[in-house]
Amino acid sequence: MSKQELYSQIPQMHEIMEQLSSHNYNRSVVKYCADKVLSNLREKISEGKIDIIDKDKVINNIMSSCENFIQGSLKKVINATGIVIHTNLGRSPLSGDLFKKSMETVCGYSNLEYDIDAGNRGDRYHHLSEYLRYLTGAEDALILNNNAAAVFLILNTFAENRESIVSRGELVEIGGSFRIPEVMRKSGARLQEVGTTNKTKITDYENAVSPETSVIMKVHKSNYIIKGFTEEPPCEQICQLADKNDLISYYDLGSGLISDFSLKFCDEPPVKDVIDKGFDLVSFSGDKLLGGVQAGIIAGKKHLIDKLKGNQLMRMLRVDKITLSLLQNILKEYINEDYEKIRTLRMFNENLDSLKSRSDDLARIINNLNPDLKLEIVQVTSFTGGGSCPMQEINSYAVQLNTGSISEAEIEKHLREFSPPVICRTADKKIILDLRTISKEEYEDIAGGIDWAVKMSL
Ligand SMILES: *Cc1c(COP(=O)(O)O)cnc(C)c1O
Repeated sequence: MSKQELYSQIPQMHEIMEQLSSHNYNRSVVKYCADKVLSNLREKISEGKIDIIDKDKVINNIMSSCENFIQGSLKKVINATGIVIHTNLGRSPLSGDLFKKSMETVCGYSNLEYDIDAGNRGDRYHHLSEYLRYLTGAEDALILNNNAAAVFLILNTFAENRESIVSRGELVEIGGSFRIPEVMRKSGARLQEVGTTNKTKITDYENAVSPETSVIMKVHKSNYIIKGFTEEPPCEQICQLADKNDLISYYDLGSGLISDFSLKFCDEPPVKDVIDKGFDLVSFSGDKLLGGVQAGIIAGKKHLIDKLKGNQLMRMLRVDKITLSLLQNILKEYINEDYEKIRTLRMFNENLDSLKSRSDDLARIINNLNPDLKLEIVQVTSFTGGGSCPMQEINSYAVQLNTGSISEAEIEKHLREFSPPVICRTADKKIILDLRTISKEEYEDIAGGIDWAVKMSL
């Protein structure tokens, strides 16, 4: 068929409208989605990639395009990877109860920036500062958009056109283009690297101090470890050196463990211990080990926090009432030491017996739906993810589907296409569903997804 003939067979807009009239889509939505599908089709014709036009198929494509458009693209997925703080899947999950507690504050008016006693304008940052003082032992605290913003604000406020000293072993890159040297350059601070990749001594820091220096910065090795012939000075020595030279000592902690007791397996120091060692400022994320929402938390000396608040940039980096309210409720659970109520911590702390028995339950439900599937309960390793406790392996249990002659990549692809999408790990001829990140409420969906994905892959 010639290209001209193909073009002439493309359905007309009035036809499309008529075909889709029984659906409740707004006319302009249908037109928008039809234009998208049809221009794609015209392009394929012009490239000679199509030699027949199936009108029903075109109409169906337009219908599913409308459906996807109306549904929106951001949606729930099932995390069967076992990576608890999965940055691509939204980092820390939140418990529904916690979210409900924030509803009243978030949906209506609140005293976000209103001083109820005085009857006039208040400050949005003080709401959480008392909780953070209690939990970290710091004099004061400040919340902003994320920890990247915290690093940027601190360097911009205290080291613009000055030098900030960092060990060569700590010039970290976090996924998603956060690199210490680049953030530093953007903030206006000059990076003064000291030591080597594997060894940095306190004398290296000492020798680098000049009249230009204003900050000594330490950065958490979030996603790597340096092992073997290594050395770094104790935190106390870095803080003393900063004190002696009237410099600011700052530790970018990244992960932000609040309490030793909240996480059984983790060997990172809690924020309180780091403050105790003498750092003037520390910063960490709200949605890593803390288990809250995207936010950056700065804790430290009051006069420094006051300076940070006075930086014009704070207006650009400030958080809204949703973040503050959810964080307030999470911090309350820490104060009550009710760690079970923090979903991320609950996932980390689930013991092997429970994971094993839940694996049995999930396998049973999958086999009830499709008895032909070859399932096995296997011990696997989960990871924390999110730049926390790097290389720390946590034992877990998984349901493993042995795919036999079917390609595991094909099944994995269909699992992603399922509604809700199931994201999982694969190995040679295996689909692995790690129970650590799977909740009971998701078993039925996973069973449906596995059954469908296998049938689609046959
Ligand atoms: C994760 C991390 C950051 C970035 O924090 P976000 O909250 O993702 O912006 C910065 N520094 C370190 C050391 C980190 O681990």
